[in-house]
Amino acid sequence: MAYVITEPCIGTKDTACVDVCPVDCIHPRKDEPEFEASAILNIHPDECIDCGACVPACPVEAIYAMDEVPEKWQGFIDQNAAYYRK
Ligand code: SF4
Ligand code: SF4
Repeated sequence: MAYVITEPCIGTKDTACVDVCPVDCIHPRKDEPEFEASAILNIHPDECIDCGACVPACPVEAIYAMDEVPEKWQGFIDQNAAYYRK
């Protein structure tokens, strides 16, 4: 399983989650070229170790365990993964 970033990140994108992730699986980081153009951050579905540290760090409650993503935001499960298929 993995955690997933959903809609509330759009427009916030403060990277608080990046700072607490122990395995650096949330991208793009501020120091990566894709950061400016990306509306949202994405969690790598295979690299995430499911620690949950990013959840309380997010000021807008955008991060959910994959099996707890609200119905209206299910599309973000694939959207997070798709970022890493580029
Ligand atoms: S659950 Fe843990 S490993 Fe996964 S993205 Fe959040 S902080 Fe990183
Ligand atoms: S902490 Fe939340 S709002 Fe901030 S970048 Fe991460 S997911 Fe987006």
